[in-house]
Amino acid sequence: MSIILGKDDLAKYPFLEEAGNYIRETHFDLDEFNRSEFLHIIERASKRIEFELIQGKVFIDLEKYDIELFTFLVSLIIMNYINEDSAIKKFSLFEAMRVEKFLVSDLSKEKDLTRKNLLISKVFRDLFQLDVELDPKNNHLFKMNISDYLIRATSFNEEEWKLIGRAVDNGYVYLDGDETVRLIRYEIYNLMYNRIKNMNITKIPEQIKIHAVLIKNKLAPAIRYSHTTTDLPPCIKKALELLNKNENLPHSARFMLATYMLSSGKSVDDVVLLFQNAPDYNEKITKYQVEHLAGKKGSQTKYSVPACSKLVNENLCYATIDCRGITNPIQFGRKNRK
Ligand code: SF4
Repeated sequence: MSIILGKDDLAKYPFLEEAGNYIRETHFDLDEFNRSEFLHIIERASKRIEFELIQGKVFIDLEKYDIELFTFLVSLIIMNYINEDSAIKKFSLFEAMRVEKFLVSDLSKEKDLTRKNLLISKVFRDLFQLDVELDPKNNHLFKMNISDYLIRATSFNEEEWKLIGRAVDNGYVYLDGDETVRLIRYEIYNLMYNRIKNMNITKIPEQIKIHAVLIKNKLAPAIRYSHTTTDLPPCIKKALELLNKNENLPHSARFMLATYMLSSGKSVDDVVLLFQNAPDYNEKITKYQVEHLAGKKGSQTKYSVPACSKLVNENLCYATIDCRGITNPIQFGRKNRK
């Protein structure tokens, strides 16, 4: 057997080549999932999917490696059977966040440098061709070359990711464990998404199919939800279009959308509903955040819609001729009506 990482690692990172090798080497046949002793695996996979897609929470429960590997496999089969792009995207994002939690913890707690380097090599280098190295002077810092950093960091709009605010030396950017792992969230997401989409299962075991159908029925109301985008400023329209496609909006775009809708007279509950299609949607957290923006929580300050100039800097502006002469999205349409 060609396992180099420990079995506990395979439980946390079931998408690694070693994990696939383990399942192949057991000569497991998918039809065996119809046997009653595998029912608990199917039920656990269903629970994981419902926890992430319906409750909007990352499933961090961790079992023995063989249970984890088979649960992961069944989860992918169920998602492939459900075959709803929005649900697959949401599941992929939550699975990426699950991996992120384990990886951040392992990189910060692992004292054995050989093991730490092995993990870096298996996840960052082998899967994503990203050369990450431990800083020889501080084992809690990681470095990568500037171009690798920029390719990934440019997709984040937050100030903290701008190169100007980072520790840079001799062509390398220095990051802590959280930041290093956060940088590859979308690569892990894409890995999960592509694994599900590219699965080619000719005959799904009946027991898995029964559970997949049940989950699909429970998901139906959420995945059909969409919003109309007529008569809105182009920046807001774009944000809603992305949400309708279950894309993940950056924090700045969520702030813009929520403050715009609140200022246009929408209720907190209506605004919360708008975010229902966000892949990481959690009703409780979203409601708290929207109430905060509406001045109903915390400092009681009602937040204003950001000015167009700010949105331009945040790459959120999609100006058209109808935006002529306005300085804030909230003015859109008023000038035209006049
Ligand atoms: S000009 Fe203002 S309203 Fe128009 S798209 Fe840009 S940010 Fe939005």
